[in-house]
Amino acid sequence: MKGICILGATGSIGVSTLDVVARHPDQYKVVALTANGNIDVLYEQCLAHRPEYAVVVTESKAEEFRQRIAASPLAEIKVLAGAEALIEVATLDNVDAVMAAIVGAAGLLPSLAAAKAGKTVLLANKEALVMSGQIFMRAVSDSGAVLLPIDSEHNAIFQCMPAGYTPGHSAKQARRILLTASGGPFRKTPLELLPNMTPDQAVAHPKWDMGRKISVDSATMMNKGLELIEACLLFNMDPDQIQVVIHPQSIIHSMVDYVDGSVLAQMGNPDMRTPIAHAMAWPERFDSGVAPLDIFEVGHMDFEKPDLQRFPCLRLAYEAIKAGGIMPTVLNAANEIAVEAFLNEEVKFTDIAIIIERSMAQFTPDSADSLELVLRADSRARQAAKSVIEGLAA
Ligand code: NAD
Ligand code: MG
Repeated sequence: MKGICILGATGSIGVSTLDVVARHPDQYKVVALTANGNIDVLYEQCLAHRPEYAVVVTESKAEEFRQRIAASPLAEIKVLAGAEALIEVATLDNVDAVMAAIVGAAGLLPSLAAAKAGKTVLLANKEALVMSGQIFMRAVSDSGAVLLPIDSEHNAIFQCMPAGYTPGHSAKQARRILLTASGGPFRKTPLELLPNMTPDQAVAHPKWDMGRKISVDSATMMNKGLELIEACLLFNMDPDQIQVVIHPQSIIHSMVDYVDGSVLAQMGNPDMRTPIAHAMAWPERFDSGVAPLDIFEVGHMDFEKPDLQRFPCLRLAYEAIKAGGIMPTVLNAANEIAVEAFLNEEVKFTDIAIIIERSMAQFTPDSADSLELVLRADSRARQAAKSVIEGLAA
């Protein structure tokens, strides 16, 4: 029986994780669930899964939640408040596995704490890895933590790696990764219409049902840019060894090309419960609840090269990882600010890439070799992006 802590339990990945957990009560026991402020969903999850701890980051909501729990049959659940509590529950002795499913930089400290504590880290929170690259991977190798990718592409690549492979190392006979992308909702939208695309249009993803931030990232293809950096770190590859492939059907979740000409692909219906169940059962497998793939219904599959004029964010991600140092941290922070401004209807869809590019131009690839340097670059990049946004509005 393994104890699991789910950081970001109320989000899209968190909900899918609990769906998988519920199928395997003999193998997983929920120790802790965390939410930012969605206490209605958290309460229902507590009723169904009876964790020992529930964390609510927003302090005012935590008090309301505490009162609701105290007056309920769940009174034995310990309710903790604030961001510090995320670290506390991610490193509890009876937690074996931590699902890192908080969105954005807010997930860095608890995910890193889980890695340092030698937990099995099920990593969905790609922003945490992108912003802290070397530090995160070093924490994993120093502590002996097991790092298993949840992002569907990286989970697919991991499944296509040789037997005994562990993330962070290079698989010598693997010469290339083919990183697949759906192309998002605007793959065919005439370029001149892109500036008018609304948040609702951007989050209406054709293949995946996800949180709002990652959905906008998919529309700009910054999601693939972050995943390119994530793949370089997880699989110890150069950016030039990674080819992004647009595959609109989202049936192949990525491929590995070997020196003998073999190309291995992992396929399945686009449902995050497959990579979640794969990582939770690893090195075994168990049921995920995902329907079997109907290959005849799929019929055929298409592959296209990405258009960097349509998707400048992907170009910026290549530039950031090639420059190295703090540049991936800057890219990620500026993107988070730009996406938030877009979702709040303060900037246009096409401004997202402009904000990131102008922010990156203010930085040089200085060292990102300590947490302090990373956090400083993150906060300076957020300031830079906010100034660029003010400039756009003027
Ligand atoms: P989501 O917006 O649906 O959920 C985010 C979760 O994080 C929620 O539980 C929320 O309460 C919590 N949260 C938000 N801000 C927080 C803060 N400041 N402090 C603490 N908790 C906070 O997002 P999602 O789609 O589930 O994505 C989560 C992560 O997984 C992201 O990094 C995303 O890139 C990655 N991911 C998601 C998918 C997917 O299909 N949804 C696929 C691959 C990777
Ligand atoms: Mg992905």
